[in-house]
Amino acid sequence: MVMRRGPAISTVLVLVTITTAPLVSSEPACDPHVKAVVFDGHKLVPGGLGPVRRAVEHELRRLGVQPTWMKDGDLESAGFVLRVVLLPHSARDWGRTEETLGAVRLDGSSASSVYVFYPSVNLALGVPADGTSILGGTPGTLWVRGLARIIVHEMLHVLLPGRAHDASGLFASNLKARELLAAELELDAETHSALLTRLCTVPF
Ligand SMILES: [Zn+2]
Repeated sequence: MVMRRGPAISTVLVLVTITTAPLVSSEPACDPHVKAVVFDGHKLVPGGLGPVRRAVEHELRRLGVQPTWMKDGDLESAGFVLRVVLLPHSARDWGRTEETLGAVRLDGSSASSVYVFYPSVNLALGVPADGTSILGGTPGTLWVRGLARIIVHEMLHVLLPGRAHDASGLFASNLKARELLAAELELDAETHSALLTRLCTVPF
């Protein structure tokens, strides 16, 4: 009996190692990427969207995800493209609280959208979009960082539909300026694994 139990236990251990390895590892099983487009139809962002795109790219790359920025006209033949729309009003117009910074609409395969409520973002971040912060940096740097994290948070809702918020980190509900403007804002390890797994499983 002892002789048989030994190999059986080893087999179980080996299986456990194999099944958990992709989940605990931050090494993705593929080369995860998303296609996205940002709309600022009301020209809300001073200086244009270049810095916002770069900041979103920075946050996504930290998660091992490479974004491809699409132009409006490219959308037809591009497959899954995540739209990010900057709105000039608060979420109160949509029956939510003024503190709501972003929301998503899940349309299925081709046109899921992330909406960002620009006046509420300004209120929440408490730093000027076009001013130099007291912490230094180029004008708008901190503000752009905060906006980028709000956008990436909402993108996660689209990429991980139905997933509950984390207790802390980038995918926590009710993010405050302190987290949004911090030098780094981590994503919960399990949510990160789920993201990489999904991006490597579902074609985006
Ligand atoms: Zn959320």
